[in-house]
Amino acid sequence: MSRAATTSGRHYLQIPGPTNCPDEVLRAIAAPTIDHRGPEFQELGHHILQAIRPVFGTSGPVIIYPASGTGAWEAALVNTLSPGDRVLCFETGHFSALWMKMAEDLGLQVDMVPGDWRHGIDPAVVEEKLSADSGQEIKAVCCVHNETSTGVTSRISEIREAMNAASHPALLLVDTISSLGAIEYHHDKWGVDVTVSGSQKGLMLPPGLSFNAVSEKALAASEKARLPKSFWDWRPILAANKNGFWPYTPSTNLLYGLKVALRMLEEEGLENVFTRHQRHARATRAAVEAWGLEVLCQDPREYSGSLTAVLMPEAFNADDVRATILERFDMSLGAGLSKLAGRVFRIGHLGAFEDLTLVGTLGGVQMGLNLSGVPIKQDGLEAAMAVLEKG
Ligand code: PLP
Repeated sequence: MSRAATTSGRHYLQIPGPTNCPDEVLRAIAAPTIDHRGPEFQELGHHILQAIRPVFGTSGPVIIYPASGTGAWEAALVNTLSPGDRVLCFETGHFSALWMKMAEDLGLQVDMVPGDWRHGIDPAVVEEKLSADSGQEIKAVCCVHNETSTGVTSRISEIREAMNAASHPALLLVDTISSLGAIEYHHDKWGVDVTVSGSQKGLMLPPGLSFNAVSEKALAASEKARLPKSFWDWRPILAANKNGFWPYTPSTNLLYGLKVALRMLEEEGLENVFTRHQRHARATRAAVEAWGLEVLCQDPREYSGSLTAVLMPEAFNADDVRATILERFDMSLGAGLSKLAGRVFRIGHLGAFEDLTLVGTLGGVQMGLNLSGVPIKQDGLEAAMAVLEKG
């Protein structure tokens, strides 16, 4: 690990996930592992499988995999679709592009709507594409709710309305890997069929768990879906979950952590959690603007509550600034991914996070920009603090 020579204290992990884990979560994870087929585990399993539902805004089942988010992407596709099925995907950034590639690798036909990586999914285009599909060949619409590579949040409720307006029966599959537990989201209310998520961001856990929340329509589709699957197959998992177990060895210790994280989110109240994230995002954007820099996201309706991607002036490389900040202040910021490499840095402000951590983070960014010779106005930190002072 690269650490600043003069730094004691903790590392600032301000990438947009994995996020900082609360001490209480870490302590829970450190407990001795128990028999995953015994009665104590069974109680834990039953508890978690219920307690996880409100975070997704669902009263239906949530399948938990001992895998990173990429696994849950695959699970969503292979459980609902058959070889050659058409899926409608939107290029909003690096992660949507990866999910599309996975769909192609699995033998699906991807209808890709190109994007500029500065805007989310346009609901009008969803309606147009589905209305044009008179044979109803499109079987699923795949959306990344919060594109972690760009800091742009697509409006899922409006996308649902667009699908309804087109009277199209396609399934709605949504990636909430960097929005769950951070940005408002409602699986049931918004008529989502499969919600994909992961443990390492808004849920404040280490990486290693991922999720599929599934609607009744998705469950019905899974009875007919013919893409090959074994580990990802929902059916044996749902059968074992009925008894509080998994068909294989689950991530016992991460489930201990999940139990605590879910309790913390419930105690804070999800509405308050969303408001906290929006407020920190607002303060961060105020800093960026006051520095005279540009937020990558161009539509204020799509600003992300989880992270802010900051565009660098042409002559400067964002990776050099990040390296300086890591070296001097022991803080990690998110890199620009694929075509944004070197062009942006990303400030993660999600998960276990409070005002003074944001002030410290933005202070580190401001000093790092100065040290890197980037011409900024010196008002950023104060602008952010003014937002925070207002309460
Ligand atoms: N989707 C989004 C929006 C993400 O941010 C990520 C990871 O950061 C992924 C998918 C992939 O998840 P994982 O890296 O956990 O496999």
